[in-house]
Amino acid sequence: MTQFMHSKFKSLKAYDTSEEAESMKGYIRLNTNESPFPPSPKAEAYAYKAADTLNYYPDPDCSKLASQLSRMLGIKPSNIVFGNGSDEILSFIFMSMCEKGAAFPDITYSFYRILAGLNGVDYITPPLRDFRILTEDYADLEGRTVFIANPNSPTGIALDTGELELIISSNPESLIVIDEAYADFGAKSAVRFISKYPNVIVVRTFSKSRSLAGARLGWCMTNDDLAQDIRTIKNAIAPYNINALTQAAALGTLEDEEYTRKNINVICRVRDNTRSRLQEMGFEILDSSANFLFVRHKTISGQKIFDELKRFRIIVRHFSNPLVLDDWNRITIGSAEQMQVFLEVMNGVVEHEAR
Ligand code: PMP
Repeated sequence: MTQFMHSKFKSLKAYDTSEEAESMKGYIRLNTNESPFPPSPKAEAYAYKAADTLNYYPDPDCSKLASQLSRMLGIKPSNIVFGNGSDEILSFIFMSMCEKGAAFPDITYSFYRILAGLNGVDYITPPLRDFRILTEDYADLEGRTVFIANPNSPTGIALDTGELELIISSNPESLIVIDEAYADFGAKSAVRFISKYPNVIVVRTFSKSRSLAGARLGWCMTNDDLAQDIRTIKNAIAPYNINALTQAAALGTLEDEEYTRKNINVICRVRDNTRSRLQEMGFEILDSSANFLFVRHKTISGQKIFDELKRFRIIVRHFSNPLVLDDWNRITIGSAEQMQVFLEVMNGVVEHEAR
């Protein structure tokens, strides 16, 4: 750190991007929960056309996108705010709505901890029990803002809406943020609660089921007042946070829901098939409502599995976090063809190690 960096960032831990994108060219990437499918052809066509308008700043309100989403979800456009990835929405919330601190599970999306650190937010991390979030651990929060990824990552386990409603209704002094990055793969959305309770924000992304991770687009849904607060922060930091190509691509994607639905169905089918094959090889696997599986082998260490897969140019996510022990890996569900290669390599590793 140079002398010019503010000393408050001395111990800031940032997101580790060393195994992403460029450095992983030529690998089968099963580490960041992206979609294996390209964006909808309509998304590509709209983005291409929008390139003509790049001399102008983009629409700061993403009006066309907001109207289309509002029609699809049965909420008002004013209840929606867009972010440069859902990460940016989370960043706005940590920055501006956590005065009394935050609460999130000890094992969850690593960015919550990073954002809390960045923004000097005091936080508590109720431990998962048996890898599950227990609602009773979210009582007595003293106004802390709660972040629940549903389904959770890296476990893939989802809470049902009854459990979520209990957390929301028993904490009227707390803002409850439900991060539904993976909900399309098997969890029920909490969007119905945004009009029933004044303390709910639901966050979503185009990065996973909608194949637009590279375009960087997420959004949140909440009541008018909270949406206005988030909009104020957005317009103070980055009024033009969503570029014109992304807005166009996302509109094309929303106009082609059939394509998204079809891809979700394929991923869920491949997930269930991958799950049974891994079970036959001696893996323990948590119940997944997401586009990934969290797995460990009965006898082979998580690090060994990670290293062996990498040798065969397959990259999964290994957690060296001592809380998750070293045994577990998170495996993104790729295309049927990618998973076939993955399973063949995995089978070879298991057979070799068993000798
Ligand atoms: N929430 C969760 C739980 C995630 O796993 C991720 C992505 N890894 C995000 C939010 C952020 O996604 P994006 O910024 O691409 O919308």
